[in-house]
Amino acid sequence: RQALSVEELNKIRVANLHPSIRKGTHFKEPLVVKNAYMQYIYDTSGKRYLDLLGGIVTVSVGHCHPKVNDALFQQAKNLWHSANIHLNSPVHEYAAKLAATLPGDLKVVYPVNSGSEANDLAVLMARVVTGNFDIISLRNGYHGMSPITMGLTGHSTWKQTAPHYFGFHHTMLPDCYNGLWAGCRDSPVQPDRKCEGSNCTSTHCTSADKYVQQLQEIFMYTLPQKKVAGFFIESIQGVGGVVQYPKGYVKKAFELVRQNGGVCVSDEVQTGFGRTGDSFWHFQDHGVIPDIVTMAKGIANGFPMAAVVTTPKIAECLTGAAHFNTFGGNPMGCAVASAVLDVIQEEKLQEHCKTLGTYMIHELNKIREEVPIVGDVRGKGLMIGIEMVKSKETREALPADKMAEIFEDLKNGGLIVGRGGFFGNTFRLSPPMCIQKQDVDSALETIRQVFKKYA
Ligand code: PMP
Repeated sequence: RQALSVEELNKIRVANLHPSIRKGTHFKEPLVVKNAYMQYIYDTSGKRYLDLLGGIVTVSVGHCHPKVNDALFQQAKNLWHSANIHLNSPVHEYAAKLAATLPGDLKVVYPVNSGSEANDLAVLMARVVTGNFDIISLRNGYHGMSPITMGLTGHSTWKQTAPHYFGFHHTMLPDCYNGLWAGCRDSPVQPDRKCEGSNCTSTHCTSADKYVQQLQEIFMYTLPQKKVAGFFIESIQGVGGVVQYPKGYVKKAFELVRQNGGVCVSDEVQTGFGRTGDSFWHFQDHGVIPDIVTMAKGIANGFPMAAVVTTPKIAECLTGAAHFNTFGGNPMGCAVASAVLDVIQEEKLQEHCKTLGTYMIHELNKIREEVPIVGDVRGKGLMIGIEMVKSKETREALPADKMAEIFEDLKNGGLIVGRGGFFGNTFRLSPPMCIQKQDVDSALETIRQVFKKYA
């Protein structure tokens, strides 16, 4: 099939695609993608780009990974769909394999189609199982675009002005860099940065207590009878700008929520599947086991697929009515997702994320020391944020026009990065996990040069 020209693409985009997708053309000179392989994207002129965004953390093991492609092609030849009315191997094999990666009693899998849908279902579960209605999540968090998850999301950029679902309350973001109490000031690692988030090696963080107190105040002032259905966190905020919380916060917050009758949900849509290096699921780094885990994006390397995993006890509560999902758990998605788990294991990608991500964060920190407009470098494994500021003292966000120019220059230099944070001033790096050291080294050089140009 003949590819459409840029002119034809633009014409259709304006006439037939929704306006948000037009705004979503992030670059001044749009990138017209022809194909992608592993960690690289190629435009129609054949120019190669290093994909440091991974389609927003979605391409987990590499674009068109041969083993994953093969699983898809093989499955497509045999069975596309059975709506789970008839028994079929892919969904069963996958459920067992996925459940084996999760700790504790997290053994029951609900396959769905997107992260929003997974979080919708988690909200429903929390309400049914507790008999409570109110849900608490973090300010600046992103959990999806459905009416329910728009309520759950604590980030006004992503909220339409029509009323979305009610019963959601947002507690203060325990942000180690920009928060009121910043973060763990006794961090021995880099005291000038105040806090190392989940990389911190200190045993006690006083700011965590203060942020938990804010959560406590939601129970005091807002919730009737202090009862809650559920508490949602991203174990590191993604869209919000790779925000890490002070050490101990998540554990204490979970305890408080459970004391008030709620279940705890970890949204692992961006942080799961080994990307953060130390654990397969990043909630494990916080020393907690949630009651419900939601996952999407990297689960199937870009194929539409998502899941909710919970305990048999919680799942049992949902049997009062039928639960059905036409495409959830379709054989194609499950075959692909199964191959993704195999590849992560066979290619030791979790370990690779730890080694290469730690190296990258370390080297980016050197750039932070050299360049005045780099305020913070944070993250874990291959989920990294670089917060750009006007000055390191004030931490005021680098203005949007400067960010856009840097973004464009990085692209022209062959690097596709993401942007996030409430003020859009955090560059996000979440490459396919197959990225190699030589890619990282050349990316670091380009980043250093481009940042210095704007400092
Ligand atoms: N949760 C998180 C943490 C996300 O980053 C996203 C997507 N950016 C979602 C949920 C929603 O996923 P989807 O776009 O597949 O609905």
